[in-house]
Amino acid sequence: VKLRGKNGVQLFTPEMGAEARARQETRRCLPGALERGELRLHYQPQCGPRGEVVAAEALLRWTHPLLGEVPPDRFVPVAEDLGLILPLGEWVLREACRQAAEWRARGLTLRVAVNVSPAQLGQADFPDRVLLALRGAGLPPEALELEITERLAVRNVAVAARQLARLGDRGVRVAVDDFGTGQSALASLSRLPLTSLKVDRGFVRDLDEAGHDPAGAARVVQAVAGLAHSLGLTVVAEGVEEAWQFGRVHALGCDLVQGYLLARPLPPAEFERWWRAHERR
Ligand code: C2E
Ligand code: CA
Ligand code: CA
Ligand code: CA
Repeated sequence: VKLRGKNGVQLFTPEMGAEARARQETRRCLPGALERGELRLHYQPQCGPRGEVVAAEALLRWTHPLLGEVPPDRFVPVAEDLGLILPLGEWVLREACRQAAEWRARGLTLRVAVNVSPAQLGQADFPDRVLLALRGAGLPPEALELEITERLAVRNVAVAARQLARLGDRGVRVAVDDFGTGQSALASLSRLPLTSLKVDRGFVRDLDEAGHDPAGAARVVQAVAGLAHSLGLTVVAEGVEEAWQFGRVHALGCDLVQGYLLARPLPPAEFERWWRAHERR
């Protein structure tokens, strides 16, 4: 039950769960966050088998003066619900391109991966917006990867295919995120101009160090990587936290690894420091 005071101010009742209360506060505080400068991007590396840095995923961070750090799993769905994801997503796209171009100018060449929400992809001028962001930053299209979730990709496969084909023709890369969490077969995704597939971290978590693997996660990862490779895709394993997992997922056919083992998502300056130290190791 929602209660409203005289001025439309939300009132909280003791019966409201902490969850519902946090959601209400997010809804109340999110509008204007971008304008108030409360949003930042953190970057998490993706590395090849020899540890070489190939890409970084841009991940949105929101710090509110009263709520503190609000995780994206909480505020991104609210932004989508309130119709704020379009300006927010646009800012992420531009800022990530700007950052990648700045790094390139200083000799740190990598590709940047940006999460794209369904509403963004549904905009008729989405391809133009992406190309404009690239041009504005002076970043080559090959240096950008758009991450779309498996669910989105399948729900609107026709629209997604049309939008992404225009970008794919120009060299922009497209990754399917969280692969394995939905119902889709790789076959339906083959209609999209994909360049990467991100194996959901649930599969990495289910791998067993001793090789007992009751859930069969190793065979799933190996089979998915094999299929993805036959479609010409780069395979990224998410959520690698342990050293043995790094070797294991590469052995199972994954090309790139992302996870806390290598680095947590870091603010740009820290990411750059981590990168330079990592290259010298
Ligand atoms: P995602 O796209 O699947 O991003 C990966 C998430 O896994 C990130 O959480 C990252 O911090 C976390 N992660 C990375 N390595 C590890 C690991 O080794 N172990 C574990 N347990 N987790 C790891 P984060 O940053 O909290 O983001 C959560 C989700 O919020 C993202 O999931 C994405 O769906 C959404 N999101 C974040 N930034 C954006 C954005 O700019 N736009 C949109 N539309 N969604 C975003
Ligand atoms: Ca992602
Ligand atoms: Ca993911
Ligand atoms: Ca996810």
